Amino acid sequence: MDISVVIPIYNEEANIVALHRRVKGVLEAMEVSYEFVFVNDGSRDRSLELLLELAARDPQVGYIDLSRNFGHQIAVTAGLDATRGQAVVIIDADLQDPPELIPSLYAKMQVGYEVVYAKRRSRQGESAAKKFTARLFYRILARITSVSIPVDTGDFRIISRKVVEGLKKMPEQNKFLRGQISWIGYRQTFVEYDRAERAGGETGYTYRKMIRLALDGITAFSDAPLKFATLSGFLVSGIAFLVMLYTLYSRFISHDYEPGWASLMISILFLGGVQLIAVGIIGEYIARLSANVRQRPLYLVADTNIPS
Ligand code: UDP
Ligand code: MG
Repeated sequence: MDISVVIPIYNEEANIVALHRRVKGVLEAMEVSYEFVFVNDGSRDRSLELLLELAARDPQVGYIDLSRNFGHQIAVTAGLDATRGQAVVIIDADLQDPPELIPSLYAKMQVGYEVVYAKRRSRQGESAAKKFTARLFYRILARITSVSIPVDTGDFRIISRKVVEGLKKMPEQNKFLRGQISWIGYRQTFVEYDRAERAGGETGYTYRKMIRLALDGITAFSDAPLKFATLSGFLVSGIAFLVMLYTLYSRFISHDYEPGWASLMISILFLGGVQLIAVGIIGEYIARLSANVRQRPLYLVADTNIPS
């Protein structure tokens, strides 16, 4: 098997058929052997029915039906676990990632790269707020992490079997595949493209899910927030110490003091705020630690036609 195509599906009934047709057209023209691995991530529309129909008429179509919605990153992980190809393409179902780019990704791989990711030159049809937060997130992430995670790339990419096997050895619960793939290393490169609008349906990435992904990315690859908490702790304590000296001075030496309600309130609120922030940051890390300690399976499969 030359190429496996992993496609996470969450409420994509409007796109599945067109997507399958377009990707299949591209792969047939490439004259390679291939398989589809569709992962139904607990869709609440007719996505699963459509997948079953596709699988019935196209022997190249494999599907995995997860037991519920586990989220995009885990859906992709479930798909990767089931692939058999020497190269694996990860692509969104909404046709925002053009399947026509697959041959150029594959061509780069043939000259010796293990990872070829697709870098967005522009993105259409997405709100200014989404573009802005995405831009900001990738910049911050690049600043504070030790692995260099490429900016402005999603999960659309082609990776080699070696990289897939590497990912399988990383059992972390809070997946951030882009970061993990950067961490794995080997020779990586990119191809640029213009990101299209969603073909049909609507985004499954709510702001809630985006914030989660952002926090997973940051906590999994950076200790900077913890260092920030420590540093601000020292800074604030330093200032508090100076204020304390001043207070003692005015109370006992200059005798120039007033019943200081305002300053008291300010320092209590300020210190309290800083402490809460620090505790919150530590909490984010502890939550992820405990998720990994529990060692639950990442996902459960309800049904599949792919032999394990
Ligand atoms: N997706 C998923 N589970 C989810 C949310 C999304 O499998 O909980 C899939 C979705 O079907 C699509 C891909 O992940 O194939 C990217 O999602 P989406 O297009 O909604 O994200 P956006 O492009 O808006 O960031
Ligand atoms: Mg999309």
